[in-house]
Amino acid sequence: STMPPLLSAIANAGRHGVLAKSAVVMERLGQIDTVALDKTGTLTEGAPRVTDLRPLPGSGLTDDGLLALAAAAEHPSEHPLGRAVTEAARERRLAVADAAGFASAPGRGVSATVGGHTVQVGSPDRLLPGGAGPVRDAVREVEDAGRTAVVVLRDGSPVGVLGIADRLRPDAAATVAALTELTGRPPVLLTGDNERAAKHLAAQVGITDVRAGLLPQDKVAAVREWEGQGRRVLVVGDGVNDAPALAAAHCGIAMGKAGSDLALETADAVVVRDELATVPAVVRLSRTARRLVV
Ligand code: ADP
Ligand code: MG
Repeated sequence: STMPPLLSAIANAGRHGVLAKSAVVMERLGQIDTVALDKTGTLTEGAPRVTDLRPLPGSGLTDDGLLALAAAAEHPSEHPLGRAVTEAARERRLAVADAAGFASAPGRGVSATVGGHTVQVGSPDRLLPGGAGPVRDAVREVEDAGRTAVVVLRDGSPVGVLGIADRLRPDAAATVAALTELTGRPPVLLTGDNERAAKHLAAQVGITDVRAGLLPQDKVAAVREWEGQGRRVLVVGDGVNDAPALAAAHCGIAMGKAGSDLALETADAVVVRDELATVPAVVRLSRTARRLVV
């Protein structure tokens, strides 16, 4: 055809299941030498399920009571962990109270007012004070099993811990191997989740460089650090928490199916087929297109 090479590269990317927003994106994608992958929803399927219900002794809550309380606060959440909680409550047919004043903080969790109480659900590292105790023990047990522990607080006091687990995407290991070959170095895992769960998962796909417990701005700082060393970074993510890093990177790709609106708007390209392996495929394609132009 007479289509300019970069435009036909966009068309080809589309056939591979990736929507590139401009021709420039394909050119930039051909230049990347470093890849940073988000964990939840990117390396994993993004459909996590609640696996553990651990009400604390003294909370007065049953397993179902803990889940119903968390679900009330998570109800409006579009985060995969929030959806896991509301879905688990729905499956158990629990009566979930109405909540008011919902607020979410990326990389941290959610809060809302439920029945006159302030309920927070989120990261143990962010919501719990340091030190030991029954809640810390429950968190550790859940994390040692390779799961994500989420803590539930009522009026500032911990009342229980939820364990949530997600499956690796079936093509995660092959994608990591392909990206390693394309860039000459293994991708780095950037996650807001805890280090134990993150390393557990990374080890299964051949990733050794794991940066855990990150807030959205920490993901940006990692990208800027590499770019300051003259590297060209590709960030792949799905969440609101990934949006700033997607924008800061030389190139940002969002996972389309479970991706948040903000990530889809911010990214330079969107995976529409919901396969991670489309990412190395388009990187390869963009390099071919570059060669045609040069
Ligand atoms: P990732 O970078 O792996 O996609 P996030 O930054 O989205 O992870 O989340 C990081 C951590 O913040 C989670 O592991 C969890 O502890 C907490 N968190 C964020 N949003 C929620 C939510 N809606 N409900 C419970 N916990 C949450
Ligand atoms: Mg994510």
